[in-house]
Amino acid sequence: MTELLPLIPESWDVKKPLIIAGPCSAETEEQVISTAKDLAANGIKIFRAGIWKPRTKPGGFEGIGEEGLAWLMRVKEETGMKTATEVATHAHVEAAAKADVDMFWIGARTSANPFMMQEIADAIQAVGAQDKPVLVKNPVNPDLELWIGALLRLYNAGVRHLGAIHRGFSAYGKHLYRNLPQWRIPIELRRRYPNLPIISDPSHMGGKRELVGPLSQMALDMGFDGLIIESHCDPDCAWSDKGQQVSPDVLNFILSTLVMRNENVTTENLTLLRQEIDRLDNEIIETLAKRMEVSRDIGQYKKEHHMPILQAQRYDTILSSRVKLAQEMGIGGEFMRIVYSAIHEESVRQQIDVFNQHN
Ligand code: PEP
Ligand code: MN
Repeated sequence: MTELLPLIPESWDVKKPLIIAGPCSAETEEQVISTAKDLAANGIKIFRAGIWKPRTKPGGFEGIGEEGLAWLMRVKEETGMKTATEVATHAHVEAAAKADVDMFWIGARTSANPFMMQEIADAIQAVGAQDKPVLVKNPVNPDLELWIGALLRLYNAGVRHLGAIHRGFSAYGKHLYRNLPQWRIPIELRRRYPNLPIISDPSHMGGKRELVGPLSQMALDMGFDGLIIESHCDPDCAWSDKGQQVSPDVLNFILSTLVMRNENVTTENLTLLRQEIDRLDNEIIETLAKRMEVSRDIGQYKKEHHMPILQAQRYDTILSSRVKLAQEMGIGGEFMRIVYSAIHEESVRQQIDVFNQHN
């Protein structure tokens, strides 16, 4: 993906950060038009609405289908907003392109499936819709290569206005979030493709209204390029995802509270703080090296006294006391557990090394 164009064509007159808003699903003509008018009055330039809905189980509202495309055309005519919808099959692409929907997005269940991605990419090429911007949601499972693969299929089909959406990843069991954000995955995507815009979907990530604001701020703090947020004129009565949709007024309020970060400002203070981080990192590495030295000494002692390397109880004590201490100091317990398992693993490796030395 070396020749990407800006996600949003200049002629669209859309400012940064990019904000896309609209209902989870187009339900009725009235709901679509009323939501769109309120959003447009609040300055939103791109309207989202699902026409075909991928539902986990049959029996839910599976989208209004092609009938809703005419409503999106009305949104364009009456508000001047651009429109976006999810496409998952050749037929969707054909119908959405015919109705001149301005932008497509690929859902998380679709980007996980290379057959479907290829079908969509081929369809975009076949109907000549390569000039439309396309956003690809992360696959439901945390697999960066699959996400990149989906983007590459579109790129190879000639799509150049490409972007990615981080909407979080499925996890089994109950969690605070509907789909767990795993920021290191989009951050790695950014490292590999610095020119690929990435926006965040706090609605599907949080699954709850009250999480939309905090998750949006987190995304902006991390330098993401925009947000796609579900907004419905009457969220409590929405036919899908009602717990996470906010009214256009609430959306306006949320957006007004967000602090936009400016990447181009690097102040003197930041330079000093970064030097401090470099210094602390050196200290961490030096301390770890000293710790490993002591581990090797212990290894030598165990070897001389014919003791085994692994002493499970000692490891348990280390782990729980370090996790507790870290938590008292405001560091996440789970994080510390991961750090200490890694340190312990390296200590064991160092001791095995001592055991294997012939002296
Ligand atoms: C959606 O955006 O309405 C949607 C179905 O999202 P996802 O693919 O992220 O579940
Ligand atoms: Mn939804």
